[in-house]
Amino acid sequence: MSRPTIGGVILDLDDTLFDCTGLLTEPARRRAATVLARSGHLAEGDAFHLQVEWSAKLGSTEALREIARLHGFADDVLNEALATYNTPDVPPIAPFPDAVSTLLALKDNGLPLTLVTSGVPERQRAKIERLGLAEFFSKDIGNLFLHDPTAEQQGKGPHLSAAATWMGVTNDSTAVVGDKLDSEIEAGNRLGMVTIHIRLGLPAAPTTPEQKPDYEIDGLAELVDLLSS
Ligand SMILES: [Mg+2]
Repeated sequence: MSRPTIGGVILDLDDTLFDCTGLLTEPARRRAATVLARSGHLAEGDAFHLQVEWSAKLGSTEALREIARLHGFADDVLNEALATYNTPDVPPIAPFPDAVSTLLALKDNGLPLTLVTSGVPERQRAKIERLGLAEFFSKDIGNLFLHDPTAEQQGKGPHLSAAATWMGVTNDSTAVVGDKLDSEIEAGNRLGMVTIHIRLGLPAAPTTPEQKPDYEIDGLAELVDLLSS
């Protein structure tokens, strides 16, 4: 495949610009498992592993709701587990070592950058602040698009479209970079964007043709060559 002509880049946040799974997701699942285990319905280890399994299908928040439903947890236990999982207090975190240099290089090459991220909006904003990435992506700049999966029926698609519009580029010259085949890669492919899968989260294989990325990379720094025209 010849190199695409790209006029703008949409990035994902979690497990794309920083190690969300290692730094935040696993500790959050352990906190929620502790709350669930306190009620005596599930052992703590089971409560952790059930979250891993269900999250792959439903996302983290809905996974907790499903586990609570299947195991008969009271609403107050579920709510405490959700609150401890989604606490807006984000511990110290850092971007991947090549993240900032890659963002700067892409900007130097004249590419506008946008961020489309899924999750509780306040928490996603807190992560961006903590990561020191607010100088690149913010509501003030206009290039931060927050997808709230608990409040919106649709996935990331409308936000990807809004990001391309903000950058003033057509879909076929928009690159979408992310770790989730069933989220930004699938949504980007449906919109005719150029999709780039970064293999940093859990190993994954496409389950439908729409989840097949145009490109695969193993680190952000690879974007600079891939997207230079
Ligand atoms: Mg991600």
